[in-house]
Amino acid sequence: MTAYQSWGGYPKLAQQARLLRWRDAELPVPGDGLSVLPFGNGRSYGDSCLNENGVLLVARGLDRLIAFDPATGILRCEAGVLLADILRFIVPQGWFVPVTPGTQYVTVGGAIANDVHGKNHHRAGTFGCHVSRFELLRSDGARLVCSPAENQALFGATIGGLGLTGVIVAAELKLKRIASPFIAAETIRFDTLDQFFELSETSDRAYEYTVAWIDCLSRGRALGRGIYLRGNHAGPFCCAQPKIARRKLSFPLQLPFSLVNGLTLQAFNRLYYHKQRQRSLHANFYYQPFFYPLDSILGWNRMYGSKGFLQYQCAVPTRHARGAMREILERIARSRTGSFLTVLKLFGAATSPGLLSFPLPGATLALDFPNRGAPTFELLNRLDEVVLAAGGRVYPAKDARMSGDSFRRYFPRWSEFRRHIDPRFSSSFWRRVME
Ligand SMILES: Cc1cc2nc3c(=O)[nH]c(=O)nc-3n(C[C@H](O)[C@H](O)[C@H](O)COP(=O)(O)OP(=O)(O)OC[C@H]3O[C@@H](n4cnc5c(N)ncnc54)[C@H](O)[C@@H]3O)c2cc1C
Repeated sequence: MTAYQSWGGYPKLAQQARLLRWRDAELPVPGDGLSVLPFGNGRSYGDSCLNENGVLLVARGLDRLIAFDPATGILRCEAGVLLADILRFIVPQGWFVPVTPGTQYVTVGGAIANDVHGKNHHRAGTFGCHVSRFELLRSDGARLVCSPAENQALFGATIGGLGLTGVIVAAELKLKRIASPFIAAETIRFDTLDQFFELSETSDRAYEYTVAWIDCLSRGRALGRGIYLRGNHAGPFCCAQPKIARRKLSFPLQLPFSLVNGLTLQAFNRLYYHKQRQRSLHANFYYQPFFYPLDSILGWNRMYGSKGFLQYQCAVPTRHARGAMREILERIARSRTGSFLTVLKLFGAATSPGLLSFPLPGATLALDFPNRGAPTFELLNRLDEVVLAAGGRVYPAKDARMSGDSFRRYFPRWSEFRRHIDPRFSSSFWRRVME
């Protein structure tokens, strides 16, 4: 049994693990009938990357770059390569990943299997929109090249397919050309939820990257206030390259209790909102602090203590976005719990090839909750009611508790997807939502 965990530290499950090292080797599927599940770098928050009483096929050992064409920006790599490794290699050559989540410590396989999105969703869609092909290894030994032209149905099922269709061993990505590793950014303080929507509408037209931090404990007229961040890749010669990589801090201990409570949350949210005194500030950020502020404190998830935490990310269609987000934020503020980092963004209309892809045109909200047992789960159920009524959905990559009924309503193509699951593959998430 191994100590593999997801990022939220909840649930903690017993499972075996086998490390994958060679992409041309067969899958080590156990003879005793136990199910298997690929594991990337465990940056999913809940149980979608876990397989209780089964076997994890740990893909981090598939960590080689295979080929790169600096003229076209086409990169081929093994699926256990981290985005951090890709960026270290391509940024000095004037290229960038087309889509990145809020951490660079995810594998290419994990990014495809959750069809991750980033601050440029309104322009670029999801990660899967930029994958031209991948090689999928199935438990019967079949090795399938999947692309929009070959094994098309399996291509669509595997993008956002939660690791259930086989192991992606290698992939080909289309990168994005950049003139500088810096982002020319602006932060704007806003006072109401309506102002967030107005800012988003104008910013999404002119800026490649947009997102807002929200004070999740503010109420009344201040409900939904926050700081809006927008930026574009800077032009050439904009700034001097940082010479020394800043040393990363590390959260040292797994405490038995959570440091996140009503008092620390309220103090942090107030301070953060008021720290920007001017309405608007311009700055050039090196790409790492702009895209990955949380990566500067390694192991920050430990501050939630041994019971872990639950992340909740929902998306609500445009026509209900304002009303549903208001109701969700009110329910959170009333509960007096929430997180240091609450993120609100508008998704764009780009469609992903993925059958179970999470984003939809509308607004998405993401935040963490310390795991306080029943009250936390009850609050999340109350948030689900709003999301379901608005025709929205909750992100499986962040989930450890949604009901099967909710899952099937959020993702109506689940039965079409189910036909593509490899019969030896399963996950704790999948068994939970299929019960
Ligand atoms: C700080 C932080 C910020 C984040 N921000 C965002 C964000 O902005 N947007 C967003 O979309 N997500 C975000 N996430 C979530 C994260 O991007 C996803 O959960 C991502 O899929 C994790 O990748 P991983 O390599 O760690 O994979 P894991 O978490 O280990 O696995 C994820 C899924 O991929 C499958 N999988 C892994 N490798 C393979 C493979 N080789 N073949 C087939 N299936 C495989 C697993 O079975 C599992 O279902 C964030 C997470 C953190 C911790």
